[in-house]
Amino acid sequence: MKLPEITYPLKIDTIGKLLALGGEMSVHCRTTGCDHGSRLNLVALGRRIGFDHSSKAQDLAPYFYCPKCRAAGRDDKRIGFILRPLTSDHCEWPRERELWRQEIKRSRAK
Ligand SMILES: [Zn+2]
Repeated sequence: MKLPEITYPLKIDTIGKLLALGGEMSVHCRTTGCDHGSRLNLVALGRRIGFDHSSKAQDLAPYFYCPKCRAAGRDDKRIGFILRPLTSDHCEWPRERELWRQEIKRSRAK
């Protein structure tokens, strides 16, 4: 995976730049009463649609739908995206590093 060069003035407008700058994204259903939501795996998404693909909500929306609403026969395209710095505990990548980190956490808790 090749991350893009960061240029200034800073404009975080592609999946690659988002990753390079330590951002993460989640997708949420905006249908009232359905609070389905999920973190996006930006690495997997970038591999599929390209790291230079726009990270704007309207450009990503065609790739997503709400599976809960689809199953219930409701409009499944009422989705929104949330962008934030990568801070979640469960965001370590690759998986081996996450397992190693949890191992350390466990040993400290003893
Ligand atoms: Zn939904």
